[in-house]
Amino acid sequence: MKVIVSASEMKKISEEMRRAGKRIGFVPTMGALHEGHLALFRDAQRHSDILVVSLFVNPTQFNDKSDYEKYPRDEKGDLKKCQGEGVDIVFCPTPVEIYPPNEKNEPILLPPVALPLEGLSRPGHFDGVVNVVSRLFKIVQPHLAVFGLKDYQQFRVIQEMVREKNWEITLLPHPIERTPEGLALSSRNARLSRQGLATALVLSRSLKKAESLFLKGERNIQKLKQVLEEEIQRESAVKIDSIAIVDAETLQGINELKRPALVSFAVFIEGVRLIDNCILKTSQVRNP
Ligand code: AMP
Repeated sequence: MKVIVSASEMKKISEEMRRAGKRIGFVPTMGALHEGHLALFRDAQRHSDILVVSLFVNPTQFNDKSDYEKYPRDEKGDLKKCQGEGVDIVFCPTPVEIYPPNEKNEPILLPPVALPLEGLSRPGHFDGVVNVVSRLFKIVQPHLAVFGLKDYQQFRVIQEMVREKNWEITLLPHPIERTPEGLALSSRNARLSRQGLATALVLSRSLKKAESLFLKGERNIQKLKQVLEEEIQRESAVKIDSIAIVDAETLQGINELKRPALVSFAVFIEGVRLIDNCILKTSQVRNP
């Protein structure tokens, strides 16, 4: 396994691999790797010859400086996990490798799907995401990149960016990986106490409840939102940041459940911001 810090070296190696006819699979991460990340690696390996994983806590996507500073970091453990998974190249640049001080920022035009939800809660977040992902794509030059649906909106934003720029990169979405109890795996979970982890189970529980009502034929969006909110508020240690049910493609608000819808929320537990979501597929709706 090669560990590369320099962006120019990474780019050179990618170009050589491309010339040699190798298919490059890429999984960008912010490190503090967990089983969710490793599942993405395996997906990428199934569809490529060479797997490149990046470990980079991107400063520009944090709208809250202390969130950036407190973000869990474990480079030594990450490299061990990458080795165990047969990753071919780990790209772990320093911020100046990604953002050279003398380089001009290309203007970023965010697609409409970046504006609602996290776009509202975390101003500047998607500018940072689009900026870093496009820079990483230009350096790593992958044929394929895998992203997790835990960050559903992020996946849609990147999908629109790749379409808009006509980049020949296949994007592969990966479903949310959870603990056996249902908690969505996240690097941020490492910041929760045992009590906090137990409290966080309310997130998947409330999604399940909304989903089960939906499957029984409930189509009133306000009612489903209310159920989610009530279920989450049973845990007094949870502070709701946002709850939304929107069109799964456009991420715009909806009045009726006629097409697949995204149920998503963000909450704070012990000061840690956690997100979770599920998709309600209209084909699953049973007519009453
Ligand atoms: P991060 O390191 O949090 O930026 O995540 C890197 C990639 O892993 C992103 O595409 C995430 O959506 C994905 N990811 C993180 N947690 C999970 C999870 N529990 N299930 C599936 N994908 C995940």
